[in-house]
Amino acid sequence: MTAPPALRTWAEIDLSAIRHNLNFVRRKVGPGPKILAVIKANAYGHGAQAVAEAIADLVDGFGVASLDEARELIPTPRDVLLLSPVLAAERRDVLAGDFIATVSSAAEAAEFPGGRVSLKIDTGMGRIGCWQDDALSEAQAILRLDAVHLHSISTHLPSPDDAVTTRSQLEAFGALKTALKTNLAPGIKFHVLNSAGILCFPDHAFDLVRPGLMLYGSASPAEFQSLLRPALTWKARVLLVRDLAPGRDVSYGRTFTTTAPTRTAVLPLGYADGFPRQASGHGAEVLIGGQRCPLLGRVTMDQIVVDVTQVPAVQPGDEAVLIGQQGAEEILAADLAAQADTIAWHLFTGLGNRVKLVNI
Ligand SMILES: *Cc1c(COP(=O)(O)O)cnc(C)c1O
Repeated sequence: MTAPPALRTWAEIDLSAIRHNLNFVRRKVGPGPKILAVIKANAYGHGAQAVAEAIADLVDGFGVASLDEARELIPTPRDVLLLSPVLAAERRDVLAGDFIATVSSAAEAAEFPGGRVSLKIDTGMGRIGCWQDDALSEAQAILRLDAVHLHSISTHLPSPDDAVTTRSQLEAFGALKTALKTNLAPGIKFHVLNSAGILCFPDHAFDLVRPGLMLYGSASPAEFQSLLRPALTWKARVLLVRDLAPGRDVSYGRTFTTTAPTRTAVLPLGYADGFPRQASGHGAEVLIGGQRCPLLGRVTMDQIVVDVTQVPAVQPGDEAVLIGQQGAEEILAADLAAQADTIAWHLFTGLGNRVKLVNI
């Protein structure tokens, strides 16, 4: 596919890669557990509506952060779980949409008469939920609320890279499930695993898993990367090619000075588009003509300057790749994120409005 020549910067979204990654989740956890695809923050910048439509037949529900995100899915496909707490002023619309509210106590659950709730247990994340010692009594109190349906009980892993802590968290949650079992109506789902959990602890999938990042083809921990297919390729067109003499400074603060004759290409994106300013001076590269071209000087709001001395034939209008593959080279979102001292989640969700989404 060739993108229209007037596109300045865009992200090509390979929806078949997302299906591939979902099928990988299914193989990893086996046929039993349900899959709730996390498509919050506009499907991590990949376009929530298109992603939801592309995978609806492979999943049992969707996870979003907020009421607004849930309402944007039209028609609302399958179960939609709101992963963050609901404001009092949003409750009526949450009930009207039949969205599943995440609650941290029985008292909060009681605010959703006629609706469905998911009780969050704090097993060490320290963010939302009731503390695990109170989980049994809170869950039992919700079950006594005739008007409220308890959809599920969940917890969240703060550090899946720490196997010791995570195993004890998973065990505590498993013990809770056992303790609650005699009181529970069948059908109440227990869930824990996000992407890293699915990759590292697939034997603890419980009744449902909540993959986010891995659906988009970015693996954390990185050792699993070859099993996933990155869905997003961030591209831009070269705006301008220039030749700089030795001793010329490039960009704000003059942090880079040429030491030899240098051919530069100017690209139409900057930190306003989500290209991390913190990557300046930390070895970031872009791909042009199948070659790695180093970023020169600081990232500015709307433009970056790269070194194309090794790609002398480059012309204005040529394609550059910021994240993704070109020829034999590849830049992973995790690579660029690391150069900016951040994470792939942050990079994806920071892509700006000027980066047009193109489904392929
Ligand atoms: C965002 C989120 C997920 C998905 O996390 P990934 O690390 O992207 O897989 C799962 N569960 C909850 C509660 C979340 O907020």
